[in-house]
Amino acid sequence: MAIWNLGSINADMVYAVPHLPGPGETLAATELSQFLGGKGANMSVAAARAGAHVCHIGAVGADGRWAVDRLTEYGVDTRQIAEVSAPTGHAIIAVEASGENQILLFAGANHAITTDQLGQAMSQAGAGDILVLQNETNAQVEAVKMGRELGLKVCYAAAPFDADAVQAVLPYLDFLILNEVEAAQLQEATGMAPQDLPVAQVIVTFGADGARYFDTNTGENQVFPAFKVKAVDTTGAGDTFTGYVLAGMDRGLPMPQAISQAMRAAAIMVTRHGTADVIPDLKDVQDAIL
Ligand code: ADP
Repeated sequence: MAIWNLGSINADMVYAVPHLPGPGETLAATELSQFLGGKGANMSVAAARAGAHVCHIGAVGADGRWAVDRLTEYGVDTRQIAEVSAPTGHAIIAVEASGENQILLFAGANHAITTDQLGQAMSQAGAGDILVLQNETNAQVEAVKMGRELGLKVCYAAAPFDADAVQAVLPYLDFLILNEVEAAQLQEATGMAPQDLPVAQVIVTFGADGARYFDTNTGENQVFPAFKVKAVDTTGAGDTFTGYVLAGMDRGLPMPQAISQAMRAAAIMVTRHGTADVIPDLKDVQDAIL
């Protein structure tokens, strides 16, 4: 089976600055580091590191070939990533010594995915495969409709949160994953608690407090406490968690086991600085003493 991920690919450009710039200020940065980022790319890397066959559906500009090469190197199938005339999506991240940051996001090529591209990619998917998406690309509604028609298991990570975007895809979802802030925002927008949503399986994550899994058909819900670790950088924890849950589902693990494994992966992730480049592989996750 395979995981099809309609997802963003970003260049995360991290600038070290003496202080965060104010309005009208010109400021010299002292250092620049460039990383592979974007929630989509992070999830693809996580699921691939967890052992799944992941086909990433996305787009970059000519300036993003390095990102595609990096994804390939990390074991992601990149044949469905288009090169378009728009610049590659990027995040300009200013970080001051205290760790406080300021982020400017530009979607660029991530919003240049065509229905044709999507159709062509999905024509190679088979019933029982998983389709996952997040809210950093265009063509989300088209994708979930295609996924449903083809008999794929349709999964959505509702981040970055937008009430209209989630509600547009909600009727087509089999599985929804949200953090606690997103869950509260969705409840405010729809009047529905997670267990009342018209989606068969829902996970709400609570950072260091773990996660809760709802099987909305049976009304069951189960709490999973997080592993106790010393967190140094929580970026990418949610994406790692989701990638590992999907890879577990794809391997046929029962949901509680897929969640436990994802929790181990996310716990290791928060002890490391960085995002896609440092997501642990399955062996690290199985061997870790937590
Ligand atoms: P997001 O990054 O999407 O906001 P969360 O912060 O809820 O997601 O984290 C997702 C999962 O990552 C949690 O359910 C937990 O398993 C793990 N996690 C996050 N922060 C920590 C932490 N400080 N210690 C241990 N596990 C963590």
